[in-house]
Amino acid sequence: MKKVLIIEDEEILRETVAYYFSHEGYEVLTAEDGQIGLDLFAAHEIDLVILDIMLPAVDGWSVCRRIRKMSNVPGILLTARSDEEDTLLGFELGADDYVTKPFKPNILLARANRLFKNSIQPRHQQDSIDLCGIYVDKLARTVVVEGTKIDFTHTEYEILVFLMEHKEQVLTRETLIIHIWGYDYGGDDKTLTAHMRNVRLKLGEKGKHITTVIRTGYKFEVDQK
Ligand code: CA
Repeated sequence: MKKVLIIEDEEILRETVAYYFSHEGYEVLTAEDGQIGLDLFAAHEIDLVILDIMLPAVDGWSVCRRIRKMSNVPGILLTARSDEEDTLLGFELGADDYVTKPFKPNILLARANRLFKNSIQPRHQQDSIDLCGIYVDKLARTVVVEGTKIDFTHTEYEILVFLMEHKEQVLTRETLIIHIWGYDYGGDDKTLTAHMRNVRLKLGEKGKHITTVIRTGYKFEVDQK
């Protein structure tokens, strides 16, 4: 059973979201402020964090930063308005997705299910990818770049693997967005740009293998000098 931690100070919203997730079969933990959320996170094996930004005690940004220091757990932010700077900061801090309030709980649930759907490894696929000094172990979901293990968030990992599995093919932004977030994804494509920047940064010099195809999308190119 997947364990979700919901950190949200508005009681009605917290309880509503908790109800939807437990009805879907998740084990649910809730916290009404950032500190309680961090304490629960440290004490349990959490599979998904739903995190409100405007929180008492410790705000959502600080919670996000501290959780990322401990783990690459998938995380969805709840933002009060579709403030572009807020969402970009969220992605810089390693959030996988965000939902703008007010939202329908089933939309949030669909986004969460989507994150897990991507992590299920189909049997017929290869267990690892080894290209250009980047080694991906798909069973352990780990990435080693020239001998050094690099931590990728859930979404960054999905983007990297999808590009590497389709090397030398142009993947349109739309294709990537549908693969990562599903058809119901309502965000604009700045989300993808922000995650792509993180992926390249984490690959360091190897980031050059991900090339931008102007006005179209991205491509993993093996032969990049
Ligand atoms: Ca709040």
